[in-house]
Amino acid sequence: MTLSTRIRSGGCLCGAARYTVRGEPLRVGLCHYSDRRKSSGSVFVAFAVWPRSSFCQSGETSTYAGRSFCPRCGGRLFCLSDRFAEVRIGSLDDAPSDLQPIQEIWIKRRETWLHPIEGAPGNTKRMPSMPWILRKTELSLPRFHFIPPPFRANPGRC
Ligand SMILES: [Zn+2]
Repeated sequence: MTLSTRIRSGGCLCGAARYTVRGEPLRVGLCHYSDRRKSSGSVFVAFAVWPRSSFCQSGETSTYAGRSFCPRCGGRLFCLSDRFAEVRIGSLDDAPSDLQPIQEIWIKRRETWLHPIEGAPGNTKRMPSMPWILRKTELSLPRFHFIPPPFRANPGRC
């Protein structure tokens, strides 16, 4: 099996919602944003983004503000758009995973007792984790604008 065909699996705590992602992620990062903190109950979210076409799910999920979770056990799982699948690394079956964050976003909200990721580019206030929410405008790097999320309440199955 080559790296490009590697399949990782994940799911919720009770096992009712499952998913797989094929190949290597487009990026891996940590987000300290206040919405992420509130939705996870943790002080940051570790995420990895794959092309939507590399993502496959089974079982029932519910979605709130683009964030999908198991309606039975409440396990937070992923955010889906037509183009991307952003998976919460903690929901992967392998622990620890082999995924290394290479970016941090919203470091303004990082807990003071957490150390920065050494050498991580993008230690900025508004680098997009969910690329459909903030998108780079043209070629001017630091400017981002809001894009209405194309979230679907009932994402398609593969
Ligand atoms: Zn569950």
